[in-house]
Amino acid sequence: MRLRRHDPEPASIESNREDPIWQQRWRRVEEALEVLPVGVVVVESDGSAFVANRRATAPLGDLTGDTLAEVALRRALARARAGDQAEETVDIAGMPPRRVEITAAPLAAGGAVAVIVDASERLRLDAVRRDFVANVNHELRTPIGALTVLAEALTGERDAATVERLAGRIAAEAARARALIDDLLDFARVEAVRQPLHEPVDLAEAVEIAAARTAPRAERRDITVRVQTVPVTVDGDREQLIVAVANLIDNAVKYSEDGASVEVQVIATDDAAEVVVRDRGIGIPARDLDRIFERFYRVDQARDRRTGGTGLGLAIVRHVATNHGGQILVESQEGTGSTFTLRLPRKTGS
Ligand code: ADP
Repeated sequence: MRLRRHDPEPASIESNREDPIWQQRWRRVEEALEVLPVGVVVVESDGSAFVANRRATAPLGDLTGDTLAEVALRRALARARAGDQAEETVDIAGMPPRRVEITAAPLAAGGAVAVIVDASERLRLDAVRRDFVANVNHELRTPIGALTVLAEALTGERDAATVERLAGRIAAEAARARALIDDLLDFARVEAVRQPLHEPVDLAEAVEIAAARTAPRAERRDITVRVQTVPVTVDGDREQLIVAVANLIDNAVKYSEDGASVEVQVIATDDAAEVVVRDRGIGIPARDLDRIFERFYRVDQARDRRTGGTGLGLAIVRHVATNHGGQILVESQEGTGSTFTLRLPRKTGS
């Protein structure tokens, strides 16, 4: 089978080649085929290709080569020409792996049609979801396992000091499980957004609320959070912006020494509003800077267990930035501190 776009033309078209109305109709069909988000191939009763749109070849590479996908397409069309509906899935190894799904059906007028779908993105999303579920499973099992062990150790314990120590650890592990569940819920909420967000949000007020939410943790560590704002409105979702800024302030506090100070600034330029969160804490190694926004990525697992981090905070911030058509930027140096900037497009006229 040789697939060339719209060639050879079928006999009916051939005989009407000179008819302008026919030509116009045929062009319309050709154009419609190119607009479709799937590949389409139609073959004659003898198996010769009648028409194929550009997408029919795109996900498969060169269809005239002896690729797995071409073999599968040929097989599906042969079955369809014999009168059966046929389905084929072709997995193409590589990085990233790709998948092509082919469905072929017989045509009452003779010949057959095949529809070719590039399912690679769905394959990738499935892998991301499986990975996420495995991570959640692992992350939840850790505190729950610890709680089980601690509860067993507590059973029958008479020594008051030991009971107190164990109870303290149980409270800490329960808090860890709770923090994870809270972050998972925030994550699910910000990830689920499909529509652009369009509520005018007073950014200065959102930042003040975020700072107030994180105040108890800062106070426990004697850390001063200084907030400087200017009045500015952005288009978006108030609660999401509060959650994002609270995560940034929470991190700045978490990764600073006791007694340190953290600065939070709202800045407005002509076309953007920025929330800048600056700390003089432990900083982030250059090699990790690209990865810290990934879900469950932590620079130092052991330290994070002590600080109670879930590894979801910055993934939430990144989603919120994207949902608002904005960006999250980071500058950091180990031992010197970090500056995170949440940049949001500015509502015109605000
Ligand atoms: P976590 O809940 O573990 O803090 P995040 O997604 O918020 O997860 O952050 C990912 C990692 O990035 C953290 O584990 C930490 O190592 C690093 N990180 C984030 N913010 C800071 C900061 N302000 N200073 C130093 N390291 C940070």
